[in-house]
Amino acid sequence: MSTTTASGVFAEPERSPALFLLGQASDLASERGVECVGALPSPSDPGLVERARAARAALGSRAVVLGHHYQRDEVIEFADVTGDSFKLAQAAAGLPEAEYVIFCGVHFMAESADILTTGDQQVILPDLAAGCSMADMAAIQQVEDAWDVLVDAGVAEHTIPVTYMNSTAAIKAFTGRHHGTVCTSSNAEVALRWAFDQTGGVDGTGKIFFLPDQHLGRNTAVEKLGLPLEACVVFDPHRPNGGLTEEQLRDARMILWRGHCSVHGRFSAKNVADIRAKVPDVNVLVHPECKNEVVTAADFVGSTEYIIKKLDAAEPGSSWAIGTELNLVRRLAAAHPDKRVHYLDATVCFCSTMNRIDLPHLVWALESLVEGRVVNRIVVDDDDAHWAKVALDQMLALPGI
Ligand code: SF4
Repeated sequence: MSTTTASGVFAEPERSPALFLLGQASDLASERGVECVGALPSPSDPGLVERARAARAALGSRAVVLGHHYQRDEVIEFADVTGDSFKLAQAAAGLPEAEYVIFCGVHFMAESADILTTGDQQVILPDLAAGCSMADMAAIQQVEDAWDVLVDAGVAEHTIPVTYMNSTAAIKAFTGRHHGTVCTSSNAEVALRWAFDQTGGVDGTGKIFFLPDQHLGRNTAVEKLGLPLEACVVFDPHRPNGGLTEEQLRDARMILWRGHCSVHGRFSAKNVADIRAKVPDVNVLVHPECKNEVVTAADFVGSTEYIIKKLDAAEPGSSWAIGTELNLVRRLAAAHPDKRVHYLDATVCFCSTMNRIDLPHLVWALESLVEGRVVNRIVVDDDDAHWAKVALDQMLALPGI
């Protein structure tokens, strides 16, 4: 970004101004140091698209750009592979010739890509402020403290931890160390069945400690495995002992972390009722990160990839109300002009952290690489990477995965 000095001369600042979130200052340990070394292009630069194309071409097969389904159009245009978080991490691992993996998604996804790629590949997140509010709701020390509560209550030895892909590498490593697994929204049912099988089966007395999305855990346990809602308790890390008595912990089958997605958590049963009133033949299709009241009111529930396939297979002329991130829903509507696609909320519902990755940051990351400077590299420490991979490998070994 150029600036005009008092003498009227344009000068390039050494660093673009930092934005400090929630008073975190330059605490890089919080993963949210958002300084961009060098000059961040202006979003109004009319040559930005050309700059992106030129830098991408200069890098050639040395780089691969991965784009999550929830990314902006201007970024998705440059993605070599698009997908959900796990598909993208697998794609990175399947391209060992790509020296640089530019991950257009959020922080935990880039961590998973770093864990699954070779040591020679470098994973880059164009904006370090692209975190995930759900993943940030479970800090490793809180989870370790919660496990101590389960130990003290005498239930830990009958409890298998399962973490959603949308969690930090440290949480995945915790799960690996405690003989658990990772799951995605596509395979959560299989993962939960496996976890219960380790402690006597779904009809037994064992428990699952599910992190960090209470809604995916509850929806899968109740709607897929048939457990009663009362078998689920919510562990609140901000209350003593999670806000639960030892008796509640002993009686529970699902101990759900008090986390949620700030995008999918917005949808309500009223949204579903409203759209049905306005569009009587509508099919309501939602993501399992939505609240249980939404999932039970919907016609179809599934992962991002499921939602895309469902729309692809839908009859021309059919009506759909979709409850997931708005960038994806807008692209689905544009791709299916023969179907009537509605958004399941009256207000805008982008994922604000996904949207941190914009064209200026992508151009900055690409041009820095062209100049031989690796910026915003995501590196998971060896111990966490080892144990997180144990948990991820356990997921890959699940039946039908
Ligand atoms: S959509 Fe929700 S779960 Fe996905 S990155 Fe955004 S906040 Fe996290």
